[in-house]
Amino acid sequence: MLKEKPFYSFNTYLKEKFGERVHRISIDAGFNCPNIDGTLSSQGCIYCNNKGFAKYAGSSKAIKEQLKESMAFYRRRMGINKFIAYFQAFSNTYADIQTLKERYDSIKEFPDIVGLFISTRPDCIDKEKLSLIAQYAKDYLVWIEYGLQTTHNRILKQINRSHTYEDFLMAYELTRKFNINIGVHVILGLPSQEHKEILKDAQQLARLDIQGIKFHILHILKNTFLEALYKDDKIQLLAKDEYVKIICDFLERIPESFVILRLISSAPQDYLAAPNWMNKKTALIEEIEQEFKKRGAHQGCFIKKSSLTS
Ligand code: SF4
Repeated sequence: MLKEKPFYSFNTYLKEKFGERVHRISIDAGFNCPNIDGTLSSQGCIYCNNKGFAKYAGSSKAIKEQLKESMAFYRRRMGINKFIAYFQAFSNTYADIQTLKERYDSIKEFPDIVGLFISTRPDCIDKEKLSLIAQYAKDYLVWIEYGLQTTHNRILKQINRSHTYEDFLMAYELTRKFNINIGVHVILGLPSQEHKEILKDAQQLARLDIQGIKFHILHILKNTFLEALYKDDKIQLLAKDEYVKIICDFLERIPESFVILRLISSAPQDYLAAPNWMNKKTALIEEIEQEFKKRGAHQGCFIKKSSLTS
């Protein structure tokens, strides 16, 4: 819950759970995505370049090797001793049950891994897969992160997500039946997205029994369809000040209990075409906190004010 910060940060949540700093290690477990392999589309989401999302994306290293290497790095560099395995690149439930089990089981060899986070699409899940994932909750903190990006089907179509908001709602309902924590990925500043549509996204998600949100700023990664649109001047990105205001507007409208899995996107500099301010994370978080201070606001404050006056 909110203590030092005007939003419920992921670090705070992990500290509450484990009593110490925990680091999330992003891995590429060798999955594909139906929106890339031709099943739904071969173009992918218009902003997709997995190399710009995840450190090991496209790596030939085995899962255990990726985990071992990263854990050694964070132990040495930051003195961290507990870790979460984050199956991040591509769609991490897009395989048969046996394959999923073998890949998730890779974490069992590492006693310092305390959590299993699985990122996937809402149309890549079913009861059997959820039942498998739920079994890990006996020993690990388990979350599924669904790429949703927006609740507006018009925009989902425009960015070629190849699923609808209703698909997400079905996955959400099924996942909560298995009592698995849900994180939802949201992109702010999507093409043609109006401010009122962003607020509607916040209001829609605020009503759900989800546990967290991971925010992305729409950014341009090299070698994407979005990059071509950007070069042709067909889309506009949010300016830094706009992003600061919009994310505060969003946070004010979601419950205090939602964990903010990430407030600001980052991307390897080699893959990032724009905006150039995005990777200055510490300064941006500071600006967001200042904006909240100026408003006398915090995550969820709008919900409280609304319920008091209704
Ligand atoms: S669902 Fe994820 S991996 Fe698949 S195309 Fe979209 S962004 Fe890329």
